Amino acid sequence: MNPQPLKIGIVGCGTAGPAAAILLRRQGHDVTVFERAAECRAVGAGFLLQPSGMHVLRGIGILDEVLNHAAKVECLHVLDADASTLLKLNYHELGGDLFGAGLHRPVLMHYLIREMAASRVDLRWGHEITTLRRNNAKWALGTSAGDEIDGFDLIVLADGARSRHRRQIRGGGVDRGYPWGAHWFIGANRGVFPENELYQVVDGTRRLGGFLATGRDLDCGEPLVSLFWSIRLADDEAWRRRPLDDWKSEILSLCPKAEVLLGQIHDWSQVMTARYGDVRMRRWHDEGIVALGDAGHAMSPQLGQGVNLALADAACLAECLAHHPPHRALRHYQYRRRLALGYYQFATRWLTPWFQSDHEWLAPLRKSLFAVSMRIPPARKLMTLSMAGMIGHRR
Ligand SMILES: Cc1cc2nc3c(=O)[nH]c(=O)nc-3n(C[C@H](O)[C@H](O)[C@H](O)COP(=O)(O)OP(=O)(O)OC[C@H]3O[C@@H](n4cnc5c(N)ncnc54)[C@H](O)[C@@H]3O)c2cc1C
Repeated sequence: MNPQPLKIGIVGCGTAGPAAAILLRRQGHDVTVFERAAECRAVGAGFLLQPSGMHVLRGIGILDEVLNHAAKVECLHVLDADASTLLKLNYHELGGDLFGAGLHRPVLMHYLIREMAASRVDLRWGHEITTLRRNNAKWALGTSAGDEIDGFDLIVLADGARSRHRRQIRGGGVDRGYPWGAHWFIGANRGVFPENELYQVVDGTRRLGGFLATGRDLDCGEPLVSLFWSIRLADDEAWRRRPLDDWKSEILSLCPKAEVLLGQIHDWSQVMTARYGDVRMRRWHDEGIVALGDAGHAMSPQLGQGVNLALADAACLAECLAHHPPHRALRHYQYRRRLALGYYQFATRWLTPWFQSDHEWLAPLRKSLFAVSMRIPPARKLMTLSMAGMIGHRR
């Protein structure tokens, strides 16, 4: 245990922020979380919690409750436009009873916030951090209201893909973004999409639809499903000027099963646009400051790891601070996270254009590549381990 309680300021209450706050508060540190949103909103997409993320939630003590609201996803099933299987990865091939959990973001948020309150984390909604200033080996945080709060020994940046503060870390970081993103919507599943698979349909590299059973609504318990429809971001506005039915027809031509779900959309305002970051940092820490989650390594959600990596970052930071003084803890953090984060950043950058780009010529190659990989057990296992978030994961 770290003998010296630290005064820690965490910027952002998304995924990495609350997880780090709970674990660090339990070690006896004085933890304050600053979140710019005025209150906790029941919004957000569906996501796939992987065994790696479950491991962290088990440590926090909320896994069973979270899973009560989840869809138990046993495989990833990707079909080509001609309905042939392009890729099918089953969690059971990894042994044990591993699975993914389709979840609605407010569910995870609800339990993390409850646990922060129970751990007596000081959570301040409506506090946008606008400045970070180093002052006599401590940090001072400036808020959009013009206040300055000082005396922090450690700042945890968990302010997401568009972090305005990551440049405080020497070597900074760049966000190259992707020209492609997604339209997304969450609606009632009504028994159309099986709960046990993440279902995707692709046509070349320009059209992709993903359907994730997203467990049950936190309040009413209704089964949910998330739709992700790939778009070139430059076309977003043009799409939104067109009748909604044109967009629905485009999706239905590839995914006829989406009819019941699309029937729940009556206005473009129900359809959100997701932009993907591609954040590259030479290192994730500096004196008394560390970047976790998307702030340090946002990536396209092609491998669906963002939430899981953010949770694992938080757990790793807490472990490092439990065993080392702060300056060494941050170096250990960097050392321990480099393999998992390096792998997933590389794999995501490599994989994304095969599914979302104008390089249509990749599509036939993709078919051959996956057909061969699926028949070679070590290659299939590597793909399944990657999906489950197990590369570089320490239990
Ligand atoms: C379409 C889409 C699908 C995805 N699917 C998956 C999936 O299936 N599985 C998966 O694991 N991941 C998925 N992800 C990625 C995942 O959503 C992110 O990686 C994850 O939420 C990162 O958590 P975080 O805590 O780092 O950042 P965030 O969750 O973005 O939280 C950042 C928080 O910081 C706050 N903030 C920002 N700036 C300030 C400031 N200056 N002051 C105070 N507060 C501030 C924000 O309001 C926000 O609450 C997906 C992403 C997208 C876009």
